[in-house]
Amino acid sequence: MSDQSSPRLKRALHTKIFIGLAMGVVAGLICNAAFKDAPQLAWLIKNLISPVGQVFMRLIFMAVIPLIFSALALGVAELGDVRQLGRIGGRTLIYTIVLTSISVIIGLTLVNLVKPGEGLSESDRQSLMSTITSAPVKTALDKAAQSKTVVQTLLDLIPRNPLADAVGAFDENYQGGGILALMVFSLFVGVALALARSERTVVFEKFLQGLYDVVMKIIHIAMKLAPLGVACLVFSVVARLGLDVVVILGKYVAVVMIGLALHMFGVYSLVLKFIIGVSPIQFFRRIRVVILTAFSTSSSNVTLPTALEVTEKNLGVSKKITNFVLTLGSTANQNGTALYEGVTVLFLAQFFGIHLSMSQQITVVLASVLAGIGTAGVPGGSLPVIVLVLQSVGVPGEGIGVILGVDRILDMSRTTLNVTGDITAAMYVAKSDGAIGLMSGGEAEAA
Ligand code: ASP
Repeated sequence: MSDQSSPRLKRALHTKIFIGLAMGVVAGLICNAAFKDAPQLAWLIKNLISPVGQVFMRLIFMAVIPLIFSALALGVAELGDVRQLGRIGGRTLIYTIVLTSISVIIGLTLVNLVKPGEGLSESDRQSLMSTITSAPVKTALDKAAQSKTVVQTLLDLIPRNPLADAVGAFDENYQGGGILALMVFSLFVGVALALARSERTVVFEKFLQGLYDVVMKIIHIAMKLAPLGVACLVFSVVARLGLDVVVILGKYVAVVMIGLALHMFGVYSLVLKFIIGVSPIQFFRRIRVVILTAFSTSSSNVTLPTALEVTEKNLGVSKKITNFVLTLGSTANQNGTALYEGVTVLFLAQFFGIHLSMSQQITVVLASVLAGIGTAGVPGGSLPVIVLVLQSVGVPGEGIGVILGVDRILDMSRTTLNVTGDITAAMYVAKSDGAIGLMSGGEAEAA
């Protein structure tokens, strides 16, 4: 990633990621058009191309848990005193809730105006209904069926055994608090570290710094594979799906995409220009490598290391704020996911001919905002959560089968918004904490 000594090399890496993405899309479309039903293509994707993409993802995933622990604990410890933590934490929370609510309202307004679920032809409807018994639907339903009470969910945020939560963080069937619980533990370690400063704890703090540096190095190495990994990930999606499903669900996909674009380029631009006081165009230019990484990996957690570096080096946000806001945000601030959940629930209600009253729509808004906070930052993290939101307003959870075919493409797009939202949050918190000179330095391109 960023290595100040060789900016030209870095720029080349970032350009290579873009080329990988473009090649994945073009090759995928060609293979889809030419050999869509050929078993050889399916074999190749399953046994070669998708695994290469997974190697890249796994190399980063393996570093995410120690990264979250060290970044958050250090971020909090570096904030110094608990009052500052309260102020920064409070601002992050308020920003998250306000911006997530705006994103859901944008989505719901669009879906109410366009009504994409009502315009489907009978044959398209039948072909979508036939997908409802597929295996992924069953997995998501099973997971939702094991859902816990609200009290239990909140209790599970305080880990009884943080190691168990770290181990289960990426396990779909894990029932504890997972990554959010690990974050709570890391926050406590950071607070205690700040309160118990002594000669002995300085050693521990140095250890955390060392851990952070080592983990970042692992990620730098993994990112060298990014251009190839990205090409393979994108090819696997596009070659299998092509544009057929996207066309059948065209209006729904368009509503989600337009909603995401309005929030990304409209709302964030306004916040950047009028609240933070920086140029939106410059901002998007400087974070383009984060956008590419989020789009091609569909994972906020995998994109976290790149986002940390870019926000610090290219946008000039202090390390203590980036570590705190971005690490928390990678799970807890997901504007794109919230918007997508709101649109999907209303779309499926329209699809099944279920009328949702105003109060039920308000339930959807609240549930989607909470979903944006509680969804894991991994590919498809939303799916089990969406089943719960559907059921809370009486729409059959099986309905997610209808949208599964286009989920990956929407996942890539909503993850991009999620991560961009985290970075705007860090900028906002830095600005309101008195930071000066945001984005005034040069661009040390990270990748
Ligand atoms: N893939 C998304 C993320 O990592 C979560 C989701 O499925 O909405 O941000």
